[in-house]
Amino acid sequence: MWNGLFFQRTTLCDQGLRVQLGHAYNRSCPTKLAANTNFRVIHSNGIHHVAIDQCRCHGVDLYKQLLRIGWWPATPLDPKSAATFEVLRHFHTLNLQGKITGYSFYQALEYQTDNTGLDPPPVCPFPPLLGISCADHEYRIV
Ligand SMILES: [Zn+2]
Repeated sequence: MWNGLFFQRTTLCDQGLRVQLGHAYNRSCPTKLAANTNFRVIHSNGIHHVAIDQCRCHGVDLYKQLLRIGWWPATPLDPKSAATFEVLRHFHTLNLQGKITGYSFYQALEYQTDNTGLDPPPVCPFPPLLGISCADHEYRIV
């Protein structure tokens, strides 16, 4: 974001992005619950922070709502991070073809997010990133 003197680093959350789960794009939920205002999303273009609103209309668990929009939660219980299916497929391909490790892949995403090293993101919430990649086919049953 341009602050008048230079481009200042900002997050999608700071720019006001809120992701409403459980409803079609650009629809609000009458029973929404602000689930997390600093939710971390690992995507193929970097690591982002967004605010998410959980839908409570039908009593669907938060992790299932995340899976339905293509985000694999780090944990089914009160998730604070998720990886998109796209980044999991990307990692799976690189792992199979280039033998890249989960650690190296996540480190590359960290550099892609902030290459200065001044404000590194927290440790990867997916230590066994490869294990998640192996399990990502299971989202189809949700
Ligand atoms: Zn709702």
